[in-house]
Amino acid sequence: MVDGAFERFQNDRYFRQLILPGVGEDGQRRLGQAKVLVIGTGGLGSPILYYLAAAGVGTIGIVDNDHVDITNLQRQILHWEKDLSRLKTESAREKLQAFNSTLRYLSHATRLTEENAEALISEYDLVIAAVDNREARRTINKACYRLGIPWIDGGIREYIGSVTVFLPPKGPCYECIYRTPTLRPKGPIPLLGALPGAIGSIEAIEGIKLILSIGIPITGRVLVYDAWTGRFDEFVPSQDPNCPICGIKVKGS
Ligand SMILES: [Zn+2]
Repeated sequence: MVDGAFERFQNDRYFRQLILPGVGEDGQRRLGQAKVLVIGTGGLGSPILYYLAAAGVGTIGIVDNDHVDITNLQRQILHWEKDLSRLKTESAREKLQAFNSTLRYLSHATRLTEENAEALISEYDLVIAAVDNREARRTINKACYRLGIPWIDGGIREYIGSVTVFLPPKGPCYECIYRTPTLRPKGPIPLLGALPGAIGSIEAIEGIKLILSIGIPITGRVLVYDAWTGRFDEFVPSQDPNCPICGIKVKGS
């Protein structure tokens, strides 16, 4: 592009949020400098990644080791029929690159484990979880609290979705809220496809708010959306003083 053309293109692209209170040019710069790791590129990851890219988040990490399956297409809108059997990170990166070519996308075609979590997460300012199991959330929680990196969790099941923001070292953390181990139900989780669209969008909004330091984060509370009744509700979990991750007693001892 000729001199000034790229700036004009960027100003036009983000115009609607540049005029938004709390964003402006300074906020847009902050978004451009932010590094966000999205773990999972499925039903939740699809809207999260799309909206982070739409907003101009400068560096977006994508973690997934899965391949696109026909049963994914009912909700995972980053992946299309032509992507069947492809690595989800490749499929996601291709769409995002075509959608907003001015950003940096880093693919991590791996499964997040206790062993690699800290090394992976430490390269980013913020983690947004788009996973479907507690084991992954506990791994993310542990690594984020050790590193002092904020993370956002979203969960979905049938007609119910929830979102929470964790801001280490402040508790309660994920471990405080969901300490009681539950058995993962056998078989696939029944799900209305648009629900992860709604919950993932809220996660993306919370991420953008954190980057911009605006608004009130959903922290210290869990936002619950019941799609069946069309109601939002929230509950306030208490911090476990003996929590091995964020517990005051543990830290002080
Ligand atoms: Zn805790």
